[in-house]
Amino acid sequence: MEATLNKTNNEVKQEESLNLFTSTQIVIKDALEKLGYAEEFYELLKEPLRMLTVRIPVKMDDGRVEIFTGYRAQHNDAVGPTKGGIRFHPEVDEDEVKALSIWMSLKCGIVDLPYGGGKGGIICDPRQMSFGELERLSRGYVRAISQIVGPTKDIPAPDVYTNSQIMSWMMDEYSRLRENDSPGFITGKPLVLGGSHGRETATAQGVTICIEEAAKKKGIDLVGARVVIQGFGNAGSFLAKFMHDAGAKVIGISDALGALYNPDGLDINYLLDCRDSFGTVTNQFENTITNQELLELECDILVPAAISNQITATNAHNIKASIIVEAANGPTTLEATKILTEREILLVPDVLASSGGVTVSYFEWVQNNQGYYWSEEEVAEKLRSIIVRSFNNVYDLSQSRDVNMRLAAYMVGARKMAEASHFRGWV
Ligand code: GLU
Repeated sequence: MEATLNKTNNEVKQEESLNLFTSTQIVIKDALEKLGYAEEFYELLKEPLRMLTVRIPVKMDDGRVEIFTGYRAQHNDAVGPTKGGIRFHPEVDEDEVKALSIWMSLKCGIVDLPYGGGKGGIICDPRQMSFGELERLSRGYVRAISQIVGPTKDIPAPDVYTNSQIMSWMMDEYSRLRENDSPGFITGKPLVLGGSHGRETATAQGVTICIEEAAKKKGIDLVGARVVIQGFGNAGSFLAKFMHDAGAKVIGISDALGALYNPDGLDINYLLDCRDSFGTVTNQFENTITNQELLELECDILVPAAISNQITATNAHNIKASIIVEAANGPTTLEATKILTEREILLVPDVLASSGGVTVSYFEWVQNNQGYYWSEEEVAEKLRSIIVRSFNNVYDLSQSRDVNMRLAAYMVGARKMAEASHFRGWV
């Protein structure tokens, strides 16, 4: 007990990341065994193939030089170049980046994109940095990882606390280094620099489509359905809007500071107007509830769209929703997944539910490679057909093999990597 009390926030976070990483490995092992692959396949896929750690000196506005640590993990490139976001966060650590790169491989496998998974991160607090400092850090990171990335090697994208402005600086830096305009180096760019329609809302769109499909399976009408969303960042805020527009009643939302609840439905458009660029809104209201209370609210659909390890063995018995759709990465522990499965709650796992972002990133990269750009409708239609097909693939496999949706999703995702690695003669 004392030891726990004496742990710093960072130590606790590192333990959590290690848990995320090891639980990902446990499910991959399970999935490969169920598919009948030999032990070597697990040995190959349990860790990223490459992990680069870089130190980035940045001139700060006050004249000091600060050295930032960054990572880029490339999990498996048997299927194609690796792909995945870059996060800027004070609690980024190596195990988290590794786990996230494996998840990217799984996502790409599940939605059937010609990529493997990658992920990057920089330990920094963008909320405390000026625009100029962020630009110098972004450019420094690209210079530091430039040898292992590129449009046919590893294609970064936005993630936690990174956005289209940061992607623009990174694309510009890479293009200067290569002396070639290289829009296909990175996705999540603004439209004028070769971004795609629909990229900003893609993750939330993907989650929305998964909610629609899950609601059909459970016989729930979305009109009037009570929805609770944890997190009001990029995914959570757009999702609240889409759910509201679809006629659902969003009765609870939250941010890092607290949660808002109204059983008659919240005024989502007003909350979106009040929200700051880091997704904070609850500090402007009295009568808030806690994030833990939010998760246990009486509702039909619960969407954890914030951080990992939110639904655990401690609260899984108290969840009232009949559908959980994971928009965040790793919000539910393995013990909780087991409890929810026994309780017959339909859990749509992160690797499936949050794959809309990378799917539209793929569209962006294809458009960059072709130099030919698609309309908003075209993007929306292609995204819908991919997510509906992927959801039903995973759902049908979970039914036919009598496994939960998480294991079924891992089976679909891992199979493609395993097959590609085998054809290449690696295992
Ligand atoms: N960071 C997002 C994810 O975790 C998007 C990655 C991408 O677009 O490549 O899925």
